[in-house]
Amino acid sequence: MTTQPERLHHLLDRARRGVILPAEGEALAELVAELEARIERVRNEHTPGHDWSWKSFGCTHKGQHKAQCVGCGACHPCPTLTALDTQTAP
Ligand SMILES: [Zn+2]
Ligand SMILES: [Zn+2]
Repeated sequence: MTTQPERLHHLLDRARRGVILPAEGEALAELVAELEARIERVRNEHTPGHDWSWKSFGCTHKGQHKAQCVGCGACHPCPTLTALDTQTAP
């Protein structure tokens, strides 16, 4: 039993080396689509709220925050969203 990240890693490796089979390419596309949907779900959960009585505390936005995240209660954009939008070094 291989885990999903292992499978993805394996398929990406084959794609990079240009030896990916059509069936594997399809499996890779399916995996990517599923990951995309998962990211979208997280994004939809972590939206800015509209509680105007809320005051941020100890955030790092230097006064530029406007709302509280509905998903996790942190200052929006919350650490979860920031992590999604931050590119990791290649
Ligand atoms: Zn903030
Ligand atoms: Zn959040």
